[in-house]
Amino acid sequence: MKEKVNQICDEIKENLYYFQDLGIEDFVIEPPNSSREFSKEKIFSSLAQEIKQCRDCPLAESRKNAVPGEGNINADLMFVGEGPGREEDIQGRPFVGKAGQLLTRIIKAMKFERENVYITNVVKCRPPENRNPKNNEIEKCKKYLFKQIELISPKVIVTLGNVPTQFFLNKKEGITSLRGKFYSYKNIRIMPTFHPSYLVRNEEDKGLKRLVWEDMQKVMAVLGKK
Ligand code: URA
Repeated sequence: MKEKVNQICDEIKENLYYFQDLGIEDFVIEPPNSSREFSKEKIFSSLAQEIKQCRDCPLAESRKNAVPGEGNINADLMFVGEGPGREEDIQGRPFVGKAGQLLTRIIKAMKFERENVYITNVVKCRPPENRNPKNNEIEKCKKYLFKQIELISPKVIVTLGNVPTQFFLNKKEGITSLRGKFYSYKNIRIMPTFHPSYLVRNEEDKGLKRLVWEDMQKVMAVLGKK
């Protein structure tokens, strides 16, 4: 064993002298890619644990499960909704109800797989009776979304409906006037579009679906999916 270690040390020394002869004086030692990815996964899973145990706002009282989010932690594309609904609260997963099934179809039509994008919400616990999250709930919860965005560093965030759109853009206008254009948030492009549950509620209005598809085509073009 000792002999082997000595042999490796000699080889390293020899290599360092070789680089010194070439005029190289400094080395940056980085962990290999795989271990960097491993630690990112670890950070994500401890963040998810923290969210599941969070009791920072009154939504913790009525939730069954907190819903941290799911998908690819290295995604270029992120979808942000307002907050978990009934089915999401039961399963602890985002967008798994009727609106979620439509979102999954939209993602597929965009030539992505659901597993390759990241899906989450502004608030991680279900507001009772699916009401909009209140300002104090958003304020308490936003640290989790910010951390997810910082870690994933997506190229585009699609905001679904009024709540996430107004949150990122800090504007009071509604989704009808804000949708369909790119905005910028910390160098990330934001594309607001209608919430899929709005499409589900207005199924007979084919014009709404067409508008969402126009918005998603703009996102696809930016991400090289055309
Ligand atoms: N609506 C949302 O905004 N988010 C979900 O996760 C489900 C429905």
